[in-house]
Amino acid sequence: MSALPPGSTIGILGGGQLGRMLAVAAAQLGYRCIGFGPKGDNVAAATSAEFFEHGWGDAEAIAAFAKRCDVVTWEFENVPLSTVEMIPAELLAPHPKALEIAQDRLNEKSFVEGFGAKPAPYLRVESESDFPRAIEQVGAPGILKTARDGYDGKGQWRIATAHEAEGIRFPGSACVYERFIDFKAEFSVIMVRAKDGEIRFWDSAANTHHSGMLESSILPSGPLIEEQVESARGIARQVADALNYVGVLTLEFFATEDGPIFNEMAPRVHNSGHWTIEGAATSQFENHIRAICGLPLGDTETRFAHIEMRNIVGEDALTAHAMLDEAGEPHLHLYGKAEAREGRKMGHVTRVSQDKIHRP
Ligand code: AMP
Repeated sequence: MSALPPGSTIGILGGGQLGRMLAVAAAQLGYRCIGFGPKGDNVAAATSAEFFEHGWGDAEAIAAFAKRCDVVTWEFENVPLSTVEMIPAELLAPHPKALEIAQDRLNEKSFVEGFGAKPAPYLRVESESDFPRAIEQVGAPGILKTARDGYDGKGQWRIATAHEAEGIRFPGSACVYERFIDFKAEFSVIMVRAKDGEIRFWDSAANTHHSGMLESSILPSGPLIEEQVESARGIARQVADALNYVGVLTLEFFATEDGPIFNEMAPRVHNSGHWTIEGAATSQFENHIRAICGLPLGDTETRFAHIEMRNIVGEDALTAHAMLDEAGEPHLHLYGKAEAREGRKMGHVTRVSQDKIHRP
């Protein structure tokens, strides 16, 4: 398929910060973006040519949106499949199959296991009455996660012992109970796959989390992750090929003494890849746009010896401009969210350096 010419229109489902940054990358390549998402704090609207604020079930609005687009992608992985299915298949990239798999943790685990990945031991928990048996078989400590609709640690309950399980108010939808992994480090494999099947990987940073939410991504990632990245990439490559995937795909892993344990997959650009904006020759956002528009992929090489990306959460965003005065020229990104609520991702800052990172 030939590349989309400059001036073409990219539709993005979802109005969050990932859409906002995708639209910036698209604009730089001469494309215009139209966003679509339900009423809310759609921060992608500020960088998009237009934003359709309608419910996911509004078939008329979806049809009008799709009619205006030359390609349609998503920045939010919980876009209902029924919405995506209203869009002509030939416009969609990646293929919605990737979305269908990633929307359900159980599907996702068994799909990726099919390519030799090892997830944490887990069992499906359909209802509260299944839970004691799952704990007995899988063991404790562990984490109960809703199979669908969880993000940033939401929809998760940690239990240290079987006894604690009694205190959990069961969510009323299918869950997965998985064993808590005593990992040494966390990393993600972020890759881009073009329409012709070419794949490029970015380096894998060491990710830290706080309350289930990404806190920082740091490069170099250290010897343990560096040793395990190759086998994790092998799995990611097979997953992407099997889905005939087009765009950026992310797989998250725990690095353990027994090798990488697969955690989850995101069929989209990812928070742990934000460092690529300043830290890599081509960012994850630009390469996603290049891939879905049929342009040649850009070089994914890391350009600095030391890189550190930190999320800015909640009220910290209100004073974040003060960082601009700091040594080491921090690269600040604020997402323009109206309310700096506790636990809400408001922005991020990336520091890059050829020697060590200067941080106050
Ligand atoms: P998730 O939403 O599944 O990506 O989980 C968010 C974060 O919670 C992960 O990045 C880990 O830091 C932690 N976590 C999730 N599942 C496990 C597990 N089975 N063992 C240990 N930590 C976990």
